Amino acid sequence: MSAPSSTTTGTDWTRRTAAELADALAAGEVTSVELTQAHLDRIAAVDGAVHAFLHVDAEGALAQAAASDERRAHGQLASPLDGVPIAVKDVLATQGLPTTCGSKILEGWVPPYDATVVVRLRAAGLPILGKTNMDEFAMGSSTEHSAYGPTHNPWDLDRIPGGSGGGSAAAVAAFEAPLAIGTDTGGSIRQPGAVTGTVGVKPTYGGVSRFGLVALANSLDQAGPVTRTVLDSALLHEIIGGHDPLDSTSVDQPLPALVDAARQGAAGDLTGLRVGVVTELGGDGYQPGVLARFQESLDLLVKAGAEIVEVSCPSFVHAMAAYYLILPAEASSNLAKFDAMRYGLRVLPEHIDNPSAEDVMRATRDAGFGDEVKRRIILGTYALSSGYYDAYYGQAQKVRTLISRDFEAAFEKADVLVSPTAPTTAFKLGEKLDDPIAMYLNDLATIPANLAGVPGISVPSGLAEEDGLPAGFQILAPALADDRLYRVGAALEAALAAQWGGPLLDQAPALEGASA
Ligand code: GLN
Repeated sequence: MSAPSSTTTGTDWTRRTAAELADALAAGEVTSVELTQAHLDRIAAVDGAVHAFLHVDAEGALAQAAASDERRAHGQLASPLDGVPIAVKDVLATQGLPTTCGSKILEGWVPPYDATVVVRLRAAGLPILGKTNMDEFAMGSSTEHSAYGPTHNPWDLDRIPGGSGGGSAAAVAAFEAPLAIGTDTGGSIRQPGAVTGTVGVKPTYGGVSRFGLVALANSLDQAGPVTRTVLDSALLHEIIGGHDPLDSTSVDQPLPALVDAARQGAAGDLTGLRVGVVTELGGDGYQPGVLARFQESLDLLVKAGAEIVEVSCPSFVHAMAAYYLILPAEASSNLAKFDAMRYGLRVLPEHIDNPSAEDVMRATRDAGFGDEVKRRIILGTYALSSGYYDAYYGQAQKVRTLISRDFEAAFEKADVLVSPTAPTTAFKLGEKLDDPIAMYLNDLATIPANLAGVPGISVPSGLAEEDGLPAGFQILAPALADDRLYRVGAALEAALAAQWGGPLLDQAPALEGASA
């Protein structure tokens, strides 16, 4: 599919992209068992420092890899990525494998069924290496709200890997997995992608099934690919995407040709494409080095033939406020099901003889939920309570409509919209933990897409000059036009790679010397 990167050394399979691994499997240079083992070895070598995984399933992954090798021997491939291993965010139900959502309240819960995304991964023959760390119930931008301890950024182990899907992004950035699945409710695929130098895609709402995805906010959640290249995301998106009768919000339409779009984009010709720079997603509050990389990427798009237009989306300035009413409202009602009766943890209250069901629920939810989850339950129940509903939740829904209209108007002037993915590079662990608003601001540029249901990708745009850490370039497209993300993303990636002389992640210093 594409040539191995210049730094690929001999048989270090963990350094290859998924497309390269698929080629190597097809050429008979390696077996799925060998390359799955190589990734398991890499996990054993570095995950003590990175902590990207909550559960590693060596036995299961190797059994799936052996089955893939068996299929290949009989010429019966299940998909273009058959035999290429993957990591899955711990918010997707996996039959027989723990699913905790990064919460103590689900400690030890093993689902009796697979999420549709997982069903599709298994059917496509991708061995599942394990489950990745995340902020509790996907609430956060740093993975520090995980009940099982934070994940560390492979670029600098003292820094956050983004969130909530920091585990998936770090696993891919640290070469522990060539591919991962994330979920994005307000930016949890794209922002971790930006701060770890990986590619992350939030598909069109309804484009990937939510069945078996433990809901944070049903009207915002989307699962999607986390990879090292745009092409790899397209390959994975084609496997997990498409209609699912088990999800009532699933779009009943064929996916656009995503892999074709990525290949076409990589050829580098964007003649005639209108790229809209969103005035409200830049400027104040954005780190100078992040803005510099953004501008440089824009210049490269112009060189490839694109035309830049300025677009204004005035309602976007209210997106964060609307999101932090709608999300807690949905989350507080979703989390009501963790009542100590059905799943996971059950705590008996001390000093109460014959406790009632309510006593047990109270003690369990007090011990089982972390501070951020409790904060959002309080916010959500308040926003939904009678007398306040119209003033808060109702208003937020109106803002949501205005944001969708802003997108519609902007997409009349531009084929794609662009911005920096996150306002800053990775900050230090602990730096924003006690300041929820500072934490929420990380998603300034990603949240509008979730509110409107449109797709977005984050592509690494280089290193910020002031700290040498990765920044991300966000591309947004109209609903159902996910192919545009891949076309433009691949064109930008190719132009940047020509400047860097190789993959950005080869410059990540933190794990140098750590090898499998
Ligand atoms: N960081 C955002 C939040 O805390 C987004 C979370 C997400 O996308 N899951 O809500």
